[in-house]
Amino acid sequence: MESRIELIRGDITKLEFDAIVNAANKSLLGGGGVDGAIHRAAGHQLLEECRTLNGCETGEAKITMGYQLPARHVIHTVGPVWRGGNNREDELLASCYTSSLEVAVNNQCKTIAFPNISTGIYGFPKERAAMIAINTTKEFLAKSKTIIKVIFVCFDEENYNLYKNRLNEVGKA
Ligand code: ADP
Repeated sequence: MESRIELIRGDITKLEFDAIVNAANKSLLGGGGVDGAIHRAAGHQLLEECRTLNGCETGEAKITMGYQLPARHVIHTVGPVWRGGNNREDELLASCYTSSLEVAVNNQCKTIAFPNISTGIYGFPKERAAMIAINTTKEFLAKSKTIIKVIFVCFDEENYNLYKNRLNEVGKA
């Protein structure tokens, strides 16, 4: 069977999938990094819809339309800020992936692209984050047949190489 996990290097705002995931902050009202790029590319209607959502807790996810993005939907999830590792950071990061995949399934999204949540401004160690992202996604896909494709989108070369090595080690789903 063809793999359901793919890895690419690039800009998530350019991708035409059922959903792209945004590494948002709790306000859901935009920010820096990938969040800023998604809001710029989607246009002001995205911010207007986000205002109606009353924010989002860390580890949870909420969906909107994609507006001017090529992607149909945006799934906004809030990653944990890295505070040394003893503040449930691993569990909360895993929950971002699981919650986003659940939201995708509940909204008939079969193809979904993830950025490297929490590894930018939020400072999560990249190798540890890649392991959590891949393991959590593989576990989810093993139980759910609805999603046909998960694409990990790496903006920087370091993350791309970490994901490539990890996926070669554990195999794809
Ligand atoms: P966080 O606050 O969750 O750390 P950031 O947006 O600062 O979120 O970073 C998360 C990841 O998104 C980083 O690895 C960063 O390199 C990446 N990133 C930034 N811009 C884009 C983009 N346009 N497409 C995909 N990934 C991006």
